[in-house]
Amino acid sequence: MSVTRIAVIGSGPSGAYTAQLLTEESESPVEVDVFDKLPTPFGLVRYGVAPDHPRVKSITTSFAEVFEETPGVRFLGNVHIGTDLTIEELRARYDAVVFAHGAPLDRRLGIPGEDLGGVNAVREFVSWYQGHPDQAVDAFVLDGRRAVVIGVGNVALDAARMLVRTPEALRLTDIPEHVVESFAGSTIDEVVVIGRRGPAYAKFTNKEFIELLEVESTDVIIDPADLELDAEQQAVLAADPAARRLVATFQKAAERGSLGRDKTIRFLFDRTPAEFLGDADGAVTGIRLVQTSDPTVSETLEVDLALRSVGYLGKPLDGLPFDERTGTIPHLDSRVVDGDEVVEGVYVAGWVKRGPNGVVGTNRKCALETVTSLLADLGERDGASTAASADEVDDLLRSRGVQVVDWNAWRAIEDAEIATGAAVDRERIKLHVREDMLQVAADAPEPLGSPEPELAGASAHA
Ligand code: NAP
Repeated sequence: MSVTRIAVIGSGPSGAYTAQLLTEESESPVEVDVFDKLPTPFGLVRYGVAPDHPRVKSITTSFAEVFEETPGVRFLGNVHIGTDLTIEELRARYDAVVFAHGAPLDRRLGIPGEDLGGVNAVREFVSWYQGHPDQAVDAFVLDGRRAVVIGVGNVALDAARMLVRTPEALRLTDIPEHVVESFAGSTIDEVVVIGRRGPAYAKFTNKEFIELLEVESTDVIIDPADLELDAEQQAVLAADPAARRLVATFQKAAERGSLGRDKTIRFLFDRTPAEFLGDADGAVTGIRLVQTSDPTVSETLEVDLALRSVGYLGKPLDGLPFDERTGTIPHLDSRVVDGDEVVEGVYVAGWVKRGPNGVVGTNRKCALETVTSLLADLGERDGASTAASADEVDDLLRSRGVQVVDWNAWRAIEDAEIATGAAVDRERIKLHVREDMLQVAADAPEPLGSPEPELAGASAHA
C-alpha cells in the first residue's frame, strides 16, 4: 500500500493537533511533515502563552510526543513556505497541504499618531519578552512612567501583568535574562487598560482577572462609576453567567481600591482612543480618549508606552485566496475555496481558518474537522499517492541551502536552554537570537542509534 504524505504548515497547537489526528484517524499509512518558519516548534505555546502560565505551556509535553514518538511525523523547522518552498512546489510534492500558520499580523486602530515611537502592537511586546527570534533583544526600553494597553482581551491582561511582575516572579519563567533585567529596571509604575465598551463586554476571563488581583506588588483600580451599568449591559449580565461573574469580581476590586502597593493597574471602560499625541522627536507623549457613550466628553492621558491589543490577523500567502476583512483563508468545511471553487488538496486549521479566538484546546476540535474532511477526500481519490518521498523533499531543501532544524536539532536547542538556566539557578532560559539557535542546531550531536554519517544517505538535516 502506498504511503500518503501530507504537509502541515505551522507547528503551533493547530498544526500539532492536525499531525496527531492525521496519524490517529487515518486507516491507511500516512506520513506528516510539519514545517515551521522558526527553528523551534509549538508556535504560540512557546511565544504567545504567558511565561507565568506554566500549566498551559506544559501541553508542549504531549505535542513533543507527536513529533518524537509518532512514526512518520517529522518536524522541519527554519523552512519558510513561500520562499524556501513555494505553495505550488508543496502541492506538487504532497498529497495534501494543511495551512495552520496562525495569525501573525495585528489589527490597527486607524487613529492619528499610531506610528509614533512608543506605540506598538502588543504582539511586538509579547514577542520581545518571550524571546522571539524576530524581535530585537533591545526592542523595548521601559523607562517611562505610564503604559496604556488598548483592548480588554486576555492578551491585554497578559501584557499588563508582565509589566508589573517582580524580577523574582519573572525568574521563575523561561524568559531571557536580558528581558528580566529590562523589567527589573523598568520605571513604569502605572498601566492603564482601556476598554472601548462597558465592563459587561470585557473579553478576558474571570480567572485571568482574579490572577491579576493576586499579583502581590500591584493595586488594581476600577472606578465604581464605571460599574454603573446601563440597561443594555444589565441585559448582557442577565443572559451571560460568565459576564456576571466577571462584573462581580470587578465590584470586589472596586471595593478593595488601593492597598498602597508599588505599582497600579487601572481599568478605564467606555473610552474610545481618538488620537496619540507626540513630541518633536516623534515619540508618543499622550493619548486622547473619548467617552464612547457620550463623544462630547474627552480626556487626555500622559503616556510613555502604548500597546494596542485589539486582535490578531492572518497573513495573505502568495498563491492562496485570502479574506482581507476577516484576516482568514476562506474555506468550506476546512477545504480552501477560491470563490466557489475548492482548491484541491489544500486545507486550513486553527486561527488562519476561524480567526484569532479560543484557547489552546479549541484547536483540537478545529483540527479534527480539518482532518475529517481531508481523510474523506483522500478516501475518494483514484490511484496511489504521487507524493515526493521525504528524502526528495530533504534533497530539494538542501540544494537550496536551507538549514532545516529537525527534531534532534530542536532537542539540542532545548538542552542548551536548560543548561543556560541551570547555570544561574533557573529552570530554563530561552535562546532569543536566531543565529545562536541555528549554531546550536548545526552542532547538534546525532541521536543515539542513528546510522554512520556516510551511510545516512540523504536523511541528515541541519
Ligand atoms: P480578543 O479577546 O478578541 O480581545 C480584543 C479586544 O480588543 C476586545 O476588548 C475588543 O473590544 C478590543 N478592540 C478591538 N478593536 C478595537 C478598537 N478599534 N478600539 C478599541 N478596542 C478594540 O483578542 P485577544 O486578547 O487578542 O485574544 C485572542 C484570543 O486568545 C482570545 O480568544 C483569547 O481568549 C485567547 N487568549 C487566551 C489566554 C488565556 O486563556 N489565558 C491568553 C491570551 C489569549 P470589543 O469587544 O469592543 O470589540
